[in-house]
Amino acid sequence: MSKTETKQYEFKAEIKQLLNILVHSLYTNREIFLRELISNASDALDKLRFESNKGSAIEQKELPYEIKLDFDDKKNIITLTDTGIGMTREEVIENIGTIAKSGTSEFLKRIKENGEAASNIIGKFGVGFYSVFMVADRVELATKSFLPGEPPVVWSSDGLGSFELGEVDGKVDRGTQIKIFLKEDAKEFASKWKLEQIIKKHSNFISFPIKLDAEQVNTISALWREPKSSVKKEEYNEFYKFLSYESEEPALIIHKSVDAPIQFNCLLFVPQKNYDMFGWNRENYGLDLYVRRVLIQHKNKDLLPEYLSFVKGVVDSEDLPLNISRETLQENLIFTKIANSVTAQVLASLSQLAKDDKEKYNKFWKEHGRIFKMGYSDFANQGKYLELLRFNSSSCSDENELISFDGYTDRMKKDQKEIYYLFGAGRDAAASDPHLEIFKRKGIEVLYLFDPIDEFVMSSINKYKDFELKSADQADLKTIEKLDEVGEKQDRTDKLEKDDELHFKSLLSKMKEILGDRVIEIKESKRLHDSPACLVNQDNTMSASMQKILSIVNKETSVPKKIMEINKNHHLIRNLIRVFKADTGDKFIRDVTEQLYESSLLLEGYLTDPHKLVSRINSLLEESSGWYTKVKNI
Ligand code: ADP
Ligand code: MG
Repeated sequence: MSKTETKQYEFKAEIKQLLNILVHSLYTNREIFLRELISNASDALDKLRFESNKGSAIEQKELPYEIKLDFDDKKNIITLTDTGIGMTREEVIENIGTIAKSGTSEFLKRIKENGEAASNIIGKFGVGFYSVFMVADRVELATKSFLPGEPPVVWSSDGLGSFELGEVDGKVDRGTQIKIFLKEDAKEFASKWKLEQIIKKHSNFISFPIKLDAEQVNTISALWREPKSSVKKEEYNEFYKFLSYESEEPALIIHKSVDAPIQFNCLLFVPQKNYDMFGWNRENYGLDLYVRRVLIQHKNKDLLPEYLSFVKGVVDSEDLPLNISRETLQENLIFTKIANSVTAQVLASLSQLAKDDKEKYNKFWKEHGRIFKMGYSDFANQGKYLELLRFNSSSCSDENELISFDGYTDRMKKDQKEIYYLFGAGRDAAASDPHLEIFKRKGIEVLYLFDPIDEFVMSSINKYKDFELKSADQADLKTIEKLDEVGEKQDRTDKLEKDDELHFKSLLSKMKEILGDRVIEIKESKRLHDSPACLVNQDNTMSASMQKILSIVNKETSVPKKIMEINKNHHLIRNLIRVFKADTGDKFIRDVTEQLYESSLLLEGYLTDPHKLVSRINSLLEESSGWYTKVKNI
């Protein structure tokens, strides 16, 4: 074909960067360029079939839906042809070269920050076309849109800085033809054996015939439509890898055929790893929706709620009309019923896994639990959702052990009416939180939350069965006090004499005088056992960590006013009472009060300036070292 009136265009800057990486690096897995081009051809055919089902007028309607691959091992050229939807001139400009898709910068970021191999992840970011420049030093793409009367166009580029767009004289069939001029070091791809092997490996499940030398290479089968008993594990795995671009096997396979109330088949997978942890590519989820084996929509996001977005796979129904438009899917009653049923299937399969294989379920939880937790607003499935949640807790032997709400309630104390949780930066932090002391003493299990979002989740759930969820620092101590202690009463000190009780009360007033407005009130603690003091919230509306999150969100830097609780059975406080009795104005009382307050602030995460605290500790240590040497006589 000869070109007339060519015009040159610069690639968008980001695409130049992307191309630079692809052109100049040597990758072991370069063969995936073919997977990308074939998947584009398949998409183009899907789109055409969609138009056809809608009843749109189509250029050369008689052409068969297929993908053809030819090669010339003398000239080192591969030619890939599809009879898909094609592109108009404007579409070519928009789709390849001038507009960088959102995936481009994310793709670049991951390559730069993680050093991931471009060939491993390129398919996930909507920039697959450019992978051809890993093997080509020149590409010519001729395309003709399905829209009747649109002239064909030819796009060509060496993948460096620019591309050319020209018109074609001579006949071009509907669809797209890509001519790949292989690089010297990529000649091996111009071979029948090689191409066949790549197609089998990466494109076997493409639902249109892929013909090489006029022979069909791929085995077209809608695996999800086959009876479960006839599908081998390897076939599932192969299909999953094809679908998800992952290299590992899936963690869980869900293959269901549902007949009532609505007919559909689904083949779903839970990946072993969650790569979206850091919010990359959040858009890249969804299930492929088929109607009678015809792809209606890639990555439909309404078949599953977002908290199950880690699931990949296919849903196919007989009961939806073939010409359904994607825009109205959500309003379609049958579609909604399918979506609800798919969600129920996934939850049921997860429950089954939790029952059958605890270890595997825990592994699932560690990977996907963070997203799964966001399902707290799925009220329709709340029962199942709650059952599937997992936590670490004060009763677990280490940080890897996980328990469910049921595990918790089974172990609950006889008269316990609430489920308690406590937020901590980690297991050690949670375990040494002063608010936990009374629970330890009473042998009450407390769920540990390590992720700030967990607090929101817990306060939204609010209840499990008949048990209210309560943050440990907001628990009603009167009810807890009534529960039996575990083991022997292990009070470390005798009861205070009546007289000392009065001195203690005055000491508390003295301490309040010292701290002034910084605390709301200072009172005797019922919850503390090992610590001398702690801070608690005045009302029961918000837990300390929730308050912390909100103050970060609102960019508040002021320290919230709290109630300070003092443990009168702690040796330090007992000694303080003695000092106070001897001299109510002793400076030591002031120092200790300040110290207790700032230490508590530190534990709550509010101490912004540690200087005073440190210099006070230093002078207290200095003094005590003096006494120590004296006592030891050294
Ligand atoms: P993605 O396929 O994820 O959108 P690509 O970089 O592979 O990203 O392709 C970019 C776009 O170019 C496609 O979305 C499509 O609009 C267009 N395109 C690529 N190949 C073809 C083709 N064979 N037929 C029609 N359009 C195509
Ligand atoms: Mg693509």
